[in-house]
Amino acid sequence: MKMYDVIVVGSGIGGTLFASLNHKKHDLLLFEKDNNLGGCSSTFKRFNNYYNTGATTFVGYEEGHIVKRFFDEVDYKPNLIQTKVGVRIVQDEKEVDRVQDFESFLENIEKTYPNANNRHFWATIKEIDEKFWELKKLYYAKYSWSAYKQSIACVTEILKTYKDQLFMSADGFIKKSLGEISSEYQAFIDAQLLITLQTKSKELSLLTMALGLAYPFHKTYYVQGGIGELIEGLLKDVPYKKNEGILEIKRHADYYEVHSTKGIYHTKNVVLNSTIYQSSQLFDDKAIKKYYKKFKFNDQSAFVLYLKVKSKADFLHHYQIILDKQIPNSISNSFFVSFSDKDDEKLSKDGYSITISTHTKASIWEGLSKKEYETKKLLTQEHITRAFLNYFDTIQEEDISRAFSSTAKTFQSYIGRQNCGGEALKIKNILSIPTCTTPFKGLYNIGDTVFAGQGWAGVALGVDVLNKEFNNG
Ligand SMILES: Cc1cc2nc3c(=O)[nH]c(=O)nc-3n(C[C@H](O)[C@H](O)[C@H](O)COP(=O)(O)OP(=O)(O)OC[C@H]3O[C@@H](n4cnc5c(N)ncnc54)[C@H](O)[C@@H]3O)c2cc1C
Repeated sequence: MKMYDVIVVGSGIGGTLFASLNHKKHDLLLFEKDNNLGGCSSTFKRFNNYYNTGATTFVGYEEGHIVKRFFDEVDYKPNLIQTKVGVRIVQDEKEVDRVQDFESFLENIEKTYPNANNRHFWATIKEIDEKFWELKKLYYAKYSWSAYKQSIACVTEILKTYKDQLFMSADGFIKKSLGEISSEYQAFIDAQLLITLQTKSKELSLLTMALGLAYPFHKTYYVQGGIGELIEGLLKDVPYKKNEGILEIKRHADYYEVHSTKGIYHTKNVVLNSTIYQSSQLFDDKAIKKYYKKFKFNDQSAFVLYLKVKSKADFLHHYQIILDKQIPNSISNSFFVSFSDKDDEKLSKDGYSITISTHTKASIWEGLSKKEYETKKLLTQEHITRAFLNYFDTIQEEDISRAFSSTAKTFQSYIGRQNCGGEALKIKNILSIPTCTTPFKGLYNIGDTVFAGQGWAGVALGVDVLNKEFNNG
């Protein structure tokens, strides 16, 4: 009986980073149920053109950052274009460019939201974020003495670094530094937090708000050929099987029996890149099921609209458009627009490939007849399309040659998850956030529903902990 050291279930950022770092050290095999690699960070082909599924912005590829460190470690150099403007934020007639250079950004924000303390507020945000990425002991795991010891060392380092700032709420800091701000300025802050942390300032601590607002102060990148290229590049030499989903995992005394759609495999360790909420369905084992079921489902999900647009005009890579009113069937009044690079031969064939996303709840799309579902989806799609055409006045309706969208249901059918993003780290939930380790020997989770959350940077931090637990634990 062939016995693998480790089977990785899923090729999202988490499964991919872990597999690329470990396939030379361990007898490893990765499974992906879908035809595309990368999960929320994949690129797919439809109607003969390519589109980014969800993620479009790549952050963390810079010296001293965990993402760059991992890419260097596996000797993979991605094909990137550094974006000049991280994102342009549009609100009625107002536009603020989130550029990396602090003074230029400050000039932008002063024009739009003048405030005597803008410099203090944004410099503090930037400084807190910089200190975070310099922390040496970032760690959060449970279920072993060494894990608890390192988690305590991490908390101690964070306490020493941030002192009183650690106990300040995001709203408290906004009030203290900027005073009473206009509802527009608050919406400007919240729209960005919703994208990076899935929640608004009233739910957050100063530390998490700073991490959410500061990403455009880092280098931000456009990935040539689509964000899925990063996953394909990282997995180039990794043994994997795609179009082969894992249906069931049986726990034995010192190994796991893994049943896929095509066969049965045996392994000493399993790393699940499925969400923490959907992992229980893979097991019959009562204790494992009970463990996963204790995590409360995070209903947050994404509505994504994909467009193919013929236009000779030039566009930035990313915009966030804030509207006056909430988008129907969403939980947001803003949407994030990403254009393919004009010179990207793969994505921009036949016109710009555009991915537009907003936040919704998985439950909004539940229990509907096919007709109700399609009607609801079209309503949201048309609302966003109108707002898109309203802002991009060089694009006419007839320039759109394709438009189709995805909801929580679409994500469920392709990548086995209804929710998008994990639970944001808040003051009140810090100790209940799931970790990469589980109480079961040889069973691990990775991805954006465990520490340290979503996006390339958040998931990579989790992989760093998993890597240490797996190899030294
Ligand atoms: C609309 C949207 C926009 C975003 N924009 C950005 C952005 O611009 N930049 C950024 O950094 N982040 C962004 N994010 C967040 C980021 O995409 C996610 O946090 C990240 O991709 C999640 O990675 P993960 O490791 O959790 O894996 P997932 O993306 O959840 O992938 C898990 C993989 O496992 C596979 N799988 C699951 N179950 C099984 C099974 N039983 N058998 C086999 N395979 C299985 C799935 O098919 C999937 O491929 C965005 C997210 C969304 C939804």
